[in-house]
Amino acid sequence: EKFVYDFEEGNRDLKDLLGGKGANLAEMTNLGLPVPPGFTITTDACRAYLKTGRLPDGMDRQVGEHLAALEARMGRKLGDRHDPLLVSVRSGAKFSMPGMMETVLNVGLTDDSVDGLAAQAGGDERFAWDSYRRLIQMFGKTVCEVPGEEFEHALDDAKHAVRTKDDLGLDAAALRTLVREYKAIFKRHTGRDFPQDPREQLDLAVNAVFSSWNADRAVLYRRQERIPTDLGTAVNVVAMVFGNLGADSGTGVAFTRDPATGESGVYGDYLANAQGEDVVAGIRNTTPLEGLADVNKKAYDDLLTIMAKLEEHYRDLCDIEFTIERGKLWMLQTRVGKRTAAAAFVIATHLVDEGVIDMDEALRRVNGAQLAQLMFPTFDLSQEPAQLTRGVGASPGAAVGKAVFDAKHAVAMAKEGEQVILVRRETNPDDLPGMIAAQGILTSRGGKTSHAAVVARGMGKTCVCGADDLDVNLHKGQFTVDGHVVSEGDVISVDGTTGRVYLGEVPVQPSPVVQYFEGTLDAEADPLVSAVHRILTHADDTRRLKVRTNADTGDDAARARRFGAQGIGLCRTEHMFLGERRALVERLILARTPQDRDAALRELLPLQRADFVELFREMRDLPVTVRLIDPPLHEFLPPLEDLAVKVAVAEERGQDPGHDKDLLDAVRRMHEENPMLGLRGVRLGLVIPGLFAMQVRAIVEAAAQVDGAQPEIMVPLVGAVQELETIRAEAEKIIGEHDVEVKIGTMIEVPRAALTAGDIAQAADFFSFGTNDLTQMGWGFSRDDVEGAFFWRYLELGIFGVSPFESIDRDGVGRLVRIAVDEGRAARPELHFGVCGEHGGDPESVHFFHEVGLDYVSCSPFRVPVARLEAGRAAV
Ligand code: ADP
Ligand code: MG
Ligand code: MG
Repeated sequence: EKFVYDFEEGNRDLKDLLGGKGANLAEMTNLGLPVPPGFTITTDACRAYLKTGRLPDGMDRQVGEHLAALEARMGRKLGDRHDPLLVSVRSGAKFSMPGMMETVLNVGLTDDSVDGLAAQAGGDERFAWDSYRRLIQMFGKTVCEVPGEEFEHALDDAKHAVRTKDDLGLDAAALRTLVREYKAIFKRHTGRDFPQDPREQLDLAVNAVFSSWNADRAVLYRRQERIPTDLGTAVNVVAMVFGNLGADSGTGVAFTRDPATGESGVYGDYLANAQGEDVVAGIRNTTPLEGLADVNKKAYDDLLTIMAKLEEHYRDLCDIEFTIERGKLWMLQTRVGKRTAAAAFVIATHLVDEGVIDMDEALRRVNGAQLAQLMFPTFDLSQEPAQLTRGVGASPGAAVGKAVFDAKHAVAMAKEGEQVILVRRETNPDDLPGMIAAQGILTSRGGKTSHAAVVARGMGKTCVCGADDLDVNLHKGQFTVDGHVVSEGDVISVDGTTGRVYLGEVPVQPSPVVQYFEGTLDAEADPLVSAVHRILTHADDTRRLKVRTNADTGDDAARARRFGAQGIGLCRTEHMFLGERRALVERLILARTPQDRDAALRELLPLQRADFVELFREMRDLPVTVRLIDPPLHEFLPPLEDLAVKVAVAEERGQDPGHDKDLLDAVRRMHEENPMLGLRGVRLGLVIPGLFAMQVRAIVEAAAQVDGAQPEIMVPLVGAVQELETIRAEAEKIIGEHDVEVKIGTMIEVPRAALTAGDIAQAADFFSFGTNDLTQMGWGFSRDDVEGAFFWRYLELGIFGVSPFESIDRDGVGRLVRIAVDEGRAARPELHFGVCGEHGGDPESVHFFHEVGLDYVSCSPFRVPVARLEAGRAAV
């Protein structure tokens, strides 16, 4: 089996085998770009090593052969005492995991070859010893787990001794002394001398890169980014070129476009007389890339030519790592670069205008999660607020409030009308009320799958987690970071998109993209808005799925319409029973005779009718699906405890508790152990005479009043066709009294309904999948209980990668959907299909609904643009 590939043998499509870095090094080599020669050891070898603890048979020999070929080509032998070849040993997995795994430079330097290196560099001893101390430092830290601070302290001391702040201030003699100290540190921690056999250095470094795949932080990172755990990493062995050979040498990073805004132009940083990580490590101040033009015009021009060539080749933004050795440019890495959500849209449309890609491709290159991000309000950072720390942006948004360290305090302060941010080390189910009360959540531990993150996302609440340099002291009610003390009551601002946390109140600015949707900002207003407009328009032209909204009020309906909704897929009628109308509902529930009940219903009728009139007006000429009342009626009564107290107090005082006593009796009578599975939905319609009839009448009479009304009546919680037939017969009588056309359909949210869809189709004009309940009942998960209680564990164990309430579970719940669509359509070809659960606005799920052949998705108004975009993407 082949475990080692020369760069000439690979290409960019071999990322699985060669990792991203190796595949792209090969690609650049074959494009004729100046890449130092080298070879890649495959991820297959890594997987074998991780499985058995041994290198696979044949790998050692192949490494020897490829090394010999490299030596022949370079005319130098690895670590030769007179004229050494040095190499870097670089990790590189299929997906980039920035800073997660390790790279060792200058492999091959030893006490002997350091002089040879100096000779090679024309007698530059300083350079040789600087390279050697870097090797011991990197090798010690990443291969042998010597604590990095030890080396850093020794380096600081050396600088201190000669009163320099800059490592360039250390001369050859100082560096030689430093190497001696480094070797002592190495020996102290590893119990052995720094290896003097170059090939042993190479082998140890390769093994260390393999092992780094399973380092804690790499494991954690993969879990957060949902990168599979079993891919392994490749190792690249690359002939060294030197950016630390003096003023005409240096190293840098560059982007072919601005990865923050997407604007065209050259972006990057350059550092003269430096090696490798110095640029990103912030050791010295870098200069902007344009500065290179003044120092070395030829290398700068070469770099620009190469960047143009790479963009043309990859047809996308590339990022690049390069080194200049004595004026000669070398390419050390490239890849299609990461970018912000805004840049993704802008770059995609620019590439279209440049004739590089077409609109379909532009649509593929952005996604709904990015669009959603662009719709959150953001902090206005123009006043440069003080950043306290940065954690993991776990649930987007911009939240401002007083820091609170205790869930109860959070609830109490929120009741007083205060805005609070709940700060914890980590959260647990006890914190739930506090999380609900808070504007945002900040934790010092845990990543994107921690309790805080999962729950916050479920609630759509801003959350930053894992800000691990926060020292949270719950007893004192404060946290410290970087010398700042933030106490309970101090205002902080939390950005759930970037993970940044600021001291004080940072002003919040509305998203320009939302202003555009609202119609208050012109599509040409700025490059981002115009990019969103163009790509979304193309998505609309492309998609098959329609997008409706879940809206219960005229305002919501109007906004959703501005956001592009093509109707209402779910109007919940329960809010129409709240507020002042609660008294009527109480009368309905307490009615002792049919006359009392009908009287209450008669009073509710005109109120509901007025609500529907408003809704139909806003959605004129578009369908409006109204769901008949769904929750158990006792949800409209006051809580048991409140009533019990009131009645007890009244009786204590010898007063007549009257109405309260009746209510209390009703609440006791109607108590259910599992209200979710109790008297609700269609069951209410079958048990309480006149209730559904009143609602149907309100819908029909409202529709008769409004031109262009397209009402659809939806019956919730149906599990058997007989239920639907009964309600339908009653409704058809009422509809028949008026000159309106009304569709009657059902939700599919009870698993039995999905499994008997062929029967149910006989009584339905449409199916609307209530995927929230279908998920609850399909998994047997009570959503309100499980998300906070134990989902973190399920995520940790990988039972699912994402909450099934967030993204549809294709295999299980999705299968129910598929069965219902197939059997429903077979029984009744003209049947119409939609989805109204929260999954309707989830990017992944939208693709699924497209695949199974639904006609529309319905989601909350703010999700409508996201669904439009993803429906378009699903269709290209
Ligand atoms: P990362 O994946 O963390 O970016 P790399 O393997 O790219 O790590 O190495 C980091 C840096 O080390 C590179 O950007 C480059 O500057 C330097 N480097 C790596 N290999 C060589 C080499 N053969 N010659 C010179 N510099 C190198
Ligand atoms: Mg790199
Ligand atoms: Mg439901």
